Amino acid sequence: MFIPKPPSDSTPRPVKLLILGSGPAGMAAALYAARAELAPVLLTGTELGGQASLTYSIENYPGFPDGVNGAQLGELFQKQAERFGASVEFDTAQSVDLSNRPFKVVTDNGAFLAEALVIATGARPNHLEIPGETELTGMGVSYCATCDGAFFKERKVVVVGGGDSALEEGLFLTRYASEVTIVHRRDSLRAGPVLQTRAKNNPKVKFIWNSVITEVVGQGKAEAVKLKNVVTGEQSTYPTEGVFIFIGHTPNTQMFEKQLKMENGYIKVDELMQTSVLGVYAAGEAADSHFRQVITSAGMGAAAAMQAIKFLEHEPQVEQRG
Ligand code: NAP
Repeated sequence: MFIPKPPSDSTPRPVKLLILGSGPAGMAAALYAARAELAPVLLTGTELGGQASLTYSIENYPGFPDGVNGAQLGELFQKQAERFGASVEFDTAQSVDLSNRPFKVVTDNGAFLAEALVIATGARPNHLEIPGETELTGMGVSYCATCDGAFFKERKVVVVGGGDSALEEGLFLTRYASEVTIVHRRDSLRAGPVLQTRAKNNPKVKFIWNSVITEVVGQGKAEAVKLKNVVTGEQSTYPTEGVFIFIGHTPNTQMFEKQLKMENGYIKVDELMQTSVLGVYAAGEAADSHFRQVITSAGMGAAAAMQAIKFLEHEPQVEQRG
């Protein structure tokens, strides 16, 4: 019996559909493609489950009336996709060549030649880019309340931002912290009304309005932040051991620059999730600057896979290249 040799690291592995990213968009694409018997390969990237997996409780994903933990939802997505034959692999794309089909994708562990590609690489948290921020990351400065909140039992923490993430994560931090102070650069919040009401009614949550943090101060750990009131110009120092920053995200799309059409760093897709290169689709926060919800990302992922399935049905298979 002939048993094909597994490809070595230097031999690119041919696949019909390669999916980059393991958040809701990637997992939904894997589910749809697997059910169409494309045997998709999904590369997880460095963060299995994407940003959603860092959310303690997701309350607006339909089907979970009591909310669902982000990591658990990610596991369910994966289980469902694998049940139909998707291969979820712990690997990260390093470079792509979209100039010819099949598309060559070089990863940490090897390389692929993909007949079609779904890019679902998501986004990463923005940084304030102020003195002390990088130096004290992991030593008081954090971008993930679910990951680091428990280190701040009975401590005072500061949350930066006025959007849904800042309020949701700030409310999560009240489980541990004795006081959560939200520092926002304006005098009104961007977050939705439900979270606003919940935050304003929580006795542990305080607000500092019209203010920005100009420096995180501390020796080996965060000890205080320097604040500036943007209206009066007044400067002050606010003691705190935790600085949680939730000021939006930047899409993980640098790898595709100069190969795909982009807008403000987001991959441009049409209503069918098609990018500027035929056979390459994008879904989720890599291509969505507007909705950025678990449900919308999953929907985009499903749509991208449905289009990839159609594309592969109608496009003749191209010669494999080296
Ligand atoms: P966002 O909505 O873009 O909010 C970012 C916040 O950070 C804004 O309040 C912004 O201030 C502030 N900000 C931005 N740059 C800043 C800087 N350099 N210094 C100080 N403050 C700065 O981001 P997000 O909260 O991460 O939410 C992203 C998307 O995910 C949104 O569509 C949101 O609805 C969604 N989301 C939804 C939920 C939910 O439904 N439960 C949970 C999390 C996120 P300004 O307001 O002045 O611009």
